[in-house]
Amino acid sequence: MPKINNLRDVYIEQLRDLYSAEQQLIKALPKMAKAATTPELAQGFEEHLEQTKGHANRLEEIFEKLDEKPTGKKCKAMEGLVKEGAEAISEDASDAARDALLIAAAQRVEHYEMAGYGSVKTFADLLGEEEAAELLAETLQEEKETDEKLTEAAESINVEAEKEGEEEEEETPSRR
Ligand code: FE
Ligand code: FE
Repeated sequence: MPKINNLRDVYIEQLRDLYSAEQQLIKALPKMAKAATTPELAQGFEEHLEQTKGHANRLEEIFEKLDEKPTGKKCKAMEGLVKEGAEAISEDASDAARDALLIAAAQRVEHYEMAGYGSVKTFADLLGEEEAAELLAETLQEEKETDEKLTEAAESINVEAEKEGEEEEEETPSRR
């Protein structure tokens, strides 16, 4: 990796990190959709997969204008977040409890992306990269909306998960 000398270098380094994050998410979201039991949640993951492909495309567009390559960096944070998502998938869990785990993992991902896009949008503004700043703001908005949808989905799914617990307690009163 060459020396990072100025804000433009920081901007490009951070954009590469986000590009890697989006690529990793493109691979992970279909698995999360498949693991989700609630149809609305599965559909939400599918929809965000399409959005995520758009996020990667926007980054490619930005890199093209900068005359730089988007590849060459691995986002280690997203690697960890995706691993936690994989844990939610493989955990021995009831349907609603697994959905609740998937939502918790997905919201961590969205918040991570929101932080990343907030930073690069600020850099783009400072660097006078107006078109890029607009594209990054659009992605940031979509990440926020996805986070809000997940919060909404959690409202009913968490209650379902709680009920499942109650049923189990009723079935096995001797454990208490
Ligand atoms: Fe994204
Ligand atoms: Fe996202």
